[in-house]
Amino acid sequence: MYNFNDIKGNEQIIKNLRSMIYNNKLSHSYIIDAPKGAGKKLIANSFAKAIQCENIKSANLEETVNACNSCVSCRTFDGGNHTDVIYVNSEKGKVIGVEDIREQVGKNIELKPYKYQYKIFIIDNADSMTVQAQNALLKTIEEPPNYGIFILLSENYNNFLPTILSRCVIFKLKSLEFDVVFEYIKNNLNIDSTEAYVFASYAQGNIGKAVEMATSERFTEVRSMVLKFIEDFYKKDFIDIFSEVSVFEDFKEDINMVLDILYLCYRDMIVLKCLSNGSEIIIQKDKKKLFKNILENFSSEHLFYGAEAVFSAKRRLALHSNFQMTIENLLLKLKEKR
Ligand SMILES: [Zn+2]
Repeated sequence: MYNFNDIKGNEQIIKNLRSMIYNNKLSHSYIIDAPKGAGKKLIANSFAKAIQCENIKSANLEETVNACNSCVSCRTFDGGNHTDVIYVNSEKGKVIGVEDIREQVGKNIELKPYKYQYKIFIIDNADSMTVQAQNALLKTIEEPPNYGIFILLSENYNNFLPTILSRCVIFKLKSLEFDVVFEYIKNNLNIDSTEAYVFASYAQGNIGKAVEMATSERFTEVRSMVLKFIEDFYKKDFIDIFSEVSVFEDFKEDINMVLDILYLCYRDMIVLKCLSNGSEIIIQKDKKKLFKNILENFSSEHLFYGAEAVFSAKRRLALHSNFQMTIENLLLKLKEKR
């Protein structure tokens, strides 16, 4: 059970959606674009639910437009079987094909709504539609019946054909303020402030990402691996490249996470080394002692060089460079005294 009140941040977008409902100025097609975990579905669902809510006209003010959570429409929506809200999915695999659109949208849109004023289609991963699928959808959204509303969710709206984009009202969700994410996971997941601080920092304004980290054991495992690596790595005078690379090899599937965390370790060491109030603004406050021990022996130049090396390794892997060679190269750079 949720409505607009449960959405964190993105106030301007919610204000616009409310205004469209209140003033009866609904458009037929919307795109909500944001990275995974940013709250697209929550916004799309709250919007669809409010549009269909039987008590929606009772709002006296634009700002109070909201799904009531108690009428039949709201309750069937929460039960997951609202007759006039349709979720379009890919039947096979990850890509939404032309058949998916024909079967789930094309045929369905011809039938009038079962009970309510509108028939709402929510298409998740809409940017995965093939060109043929987009063209099939275009036919419908070019001349939709009065009752048809389409909400397309995407991670990269550049994947849409210009003809689709030109028909849609586009909302790009913003990253949330650090404090919003921090408070949310601290209060909702019942974790202490130090941990919440770390997760909120890593998540960079994305609540879904923060929740995933805080609730997944994998993140904790990966983080422990990185911290142990960095601790051991700087204790040794000589390193055995092969055994060091194998440590990374074991975490190959999560290599992006590994490198992100490693990058933030360097970021924290740089902050500690270069800023007088560094202790207050490092991300991993729980590891302050470890970082201080390491950075005692290194110049700030070395730390900047290390951060840059981690960043460039991540970029090279994204371009499909050889894993072994990229990591070897990274480790050699990290070991260079500067
Ligand atoms: Zn309602």
